[in-house]
Amino acid sequence: MTSKKRILSAIQPTGDMHFGNYFGAVQNWVRLQEQYDCVYGVVDYHAMSMPYNPKKLRENTWSILFNLIAVGVDVDNLFIQSLVPEHAELSWIFNCFCSYGQLSRMTQFKDKSQQSKEKATDAFISAGLFGYPVLQAADILIYRADYVPVGKDQEQHLELTRNIAERFNKQVGKDYFVLPETLYTEVPKVMSTADPARKMSKSAGEKHHINVFADEARIRKQIKSAVTDTGQATEGMSAGVENLFSLLGASGKKEAYEYLRTCYQNGTLKYSELKAEVAEGLVGLSAVFKDRKAAIEQDKKNIKNQIKASSAQIRKRAQETVKEVKELTGLANVRF
Ligand code: ADP
Repeated sequence: MTSKKRILSAIQPTGDMHFGNYFGAVQNWVRLQEQYDCVYGVVDYHAMSMPYNPKKLRENTWSILFNLIAVGVDVDNLFIQSLVPEHAELSWIFNCFCSYGQLSRMTQFKDKSQQSKEKATDAFISAGLFGYPVLQAADILIYRADYVPVGKDQEQHLELTRNIAERFNKQVGKDYFVLPETLYTEVPKVMSTADPARKMSKSAGEKHHINVFADEARIRKQIKSAVTDTGQATEGMSAGVENLFSLLGASGKKEAYEYLRTCYQNGTLKYSELKAEVAEGLVGLSAVFKDRKAAIEQDKKNIKNQIKASSAQIRKRAQETVKEVKELTGLANVRF
């Protein structure tokens, strides 16, 4: 048994990893591995909550796993959610510890159901999308995680997770679940460069996210066309410029960051110069990741087997929790 604090985080297998995912969460995943006992999931059950294509779902699951390894996540810490079906079982139990009213207030549900309406011709909004935060609570609590490194967009879901844990503990008369806390990076919210009023997101469409593994030319083009001013009068720095500074700092270009910050204060900042430095920073990071990804591509079969094995290992922990939960809640179990 390890005495290290536990960490859980997850990402959806919907398209490629973007710099919002990376700077907002995944960069932290990599750093935290040294100090904590970490488990990181690719949550394919979650990806079914929006209209999706089954063949693509499986392809994306493997591809995001390869991407995570390429940016530095340890294979042994990774699992595929559907290989640990106990998540779905615990989610059902948690449905009974979560109020309908609280779920209806989730802003991500409101945003994503709006996107579903815009995208799908039949405007289908699944009950899975509504129950998504309950499954997320199961993802976290099943490993009794102390900390959850996520972007700021997940704050409300974490609050709900703690509420479920509290209600559960109260009902069973035992402090069984730890109340998990969020861990934010220096850039908890990366905005879309095409529209700095909304967050960078895969689900919002092509121009609203910059793929970590994109061609150099594409990254440069997306940064070059980043919106800096909306034409409306703003007090202080505009959201677009602030976002570019965040990206610059996060990509590790500290000197350029300090220098351009001073230029901004003196009123001599050229947006073209800021954009060139941001592009340089992102392209530099991306090149390292792409090299590692090329090596992974050569060894796919072996890596897939390693991920299946790590999922089976991680599943043992989940099974232990579900067994105890069934005992505590009066459900049938092995000793029944
Ligand atoms: P998406 O919102 O693009 O569908 P996911 O829901 O799979 O991405 O999120 C995976 C992780 O990335 C989560 O921890 C989430 O908080 C983080 N994340 C996603 N978008 C951003 C963003 N724009 N800024 C910061 N973190 C983000």
